Amino acid sequence: MSAVYEPLWHTAGPEGGSNAAKPASPPPAPPKAYKIEDFTLLKVLGKGSFGKVMLAQLKNSNRHFAIKALKKDVVLEDDDIECTMVERHVLSLAWHHPFLTHLYCTFQSTEHLFFVMEYLNGGDLMFHIQSSLRFDVNRARFYGAEIILGLRFLHDRGIIYRDLKLDNVLLDSDGHIKIADFGMCKQNIFGDNLASTFCGTPDYIAPEILKGAKYSASVDWWSFGVLLFEMLIGQSPFHGEDEDMLFDSILHDNLQFPRFMTKEAQSCVSKFLEREPSKRLGVNEDPRKHSFFKSIDFEKLEKREIPPPFKPKVKSSSDASNFDPEFTMEKVALSRTDKDFLNSINQKQFRGFSFTNPKMVD
Ligand code: ATP
Ligand code: MG
Repeated sequence: MSAVYEPLWHTAGPEGGSNAAKPASPPPAPPKAYKIEDFTLLKVLGKGSFGKVMLAQLKNSNRHFAIKALKKDVVLEDDDIECTMVERHVLSLAWHHPFLTHLYCTFQSTEHLFFVMEYLNGGDLMFHIQSSLRFDVNRARFYGAEIILGLRFLHDRGIIYRDLKLDNVLLDSDGHIKIADFGMCKQNIFGDNLASTFCGTPDYIAPEILKGAKYSASVDWWSFGVLLFEMLIGQSPFHGEDEDMLFDSILHDNLQFPRFMTKEAQSCVSKFLEREPSKRLGVNEDPRKHSFFKSIDFEKLEKREIPPPFKPKVKSSSDASNFDPEFTMEKVALSRTDKDFLNSINQKQFRGFSFTNPKMVD
């Protein structure tokens, strides 16, 4: 049985604690509640549907962080407050796993929600695969094996990730992977308690989601199969000129493997890309036991004792050369919200968002 981990969190500042039972002895002073003015924003690292991720330096220190800023108006328009709270919760658990991105604190302003994360200066796998076309088999196997451990940690806690893809997997300065972006996670998926929302990134969506069926962690193993295929071959397994054709391909097309791919790699990818969820590798069998991974000592791997096959080039802890210049050349600034809309926001909805991990103050 795996260990039970408690989030390392302390509610920061005046937002939290109002409903908590009174402790017998005086509680320790709450950790510092950070605000965006405590940081110098240096560069944009990436952008997504809800906001942007920026490289930032804590003022009067040499510490660098990646800050994800979500605009409250966009979160509200998409009815996504719950997702944001889930993202915060999962990030707080992630502290306990070496292959999940660590979170230092969360705070808010009237316009934004902020997540302060460790800065992973090695860049994401999308950035790296673009320069090397595909990864050699050892590199793909190493990344795949570390991702398997990160996914298993989440699944063991009833969390399905639902957005596994190259851009959500980052490298640290040593070349170990870290899964980022927990905005699409779903909690409490145990036994008969299944998910049903249609979500994900089109290329990676599992057939059971496309069919409108209820689903479990099986969907992550499907996306993992797509990711492994992409790492080994340098292109997606399914294609279509538009979304409908892509979904049709996911539901019906046979996999085509190039000759250079070993039989073991082909068997492994095919078993993850099994359309029947109950027969899929990861669901019916432990993926660590597949012969493709036989050279990996998973115990050592989880302790980060296996040296990564590729070390990203980083000149300093604040180096952003492993990120797309499309973002890093952009002027760094927080986007503003319309004043009238801002006044109409019911700020109570975001209560309890802000936390500080004690490690932030170390
Ligand atoms: P959402 O799916 O919630 O809209 P998103 O895709 O906008 O999220 P993320 O995936 O969390 O946001 O981040 C976008 C990009 O920013 C990533 O692809 C990555 O390049 C970069 N990034 C995210 N987190 C970090 C981090 N901790 N360190 C360095 N870069 C990061
Ligand atoms: Mg993302």
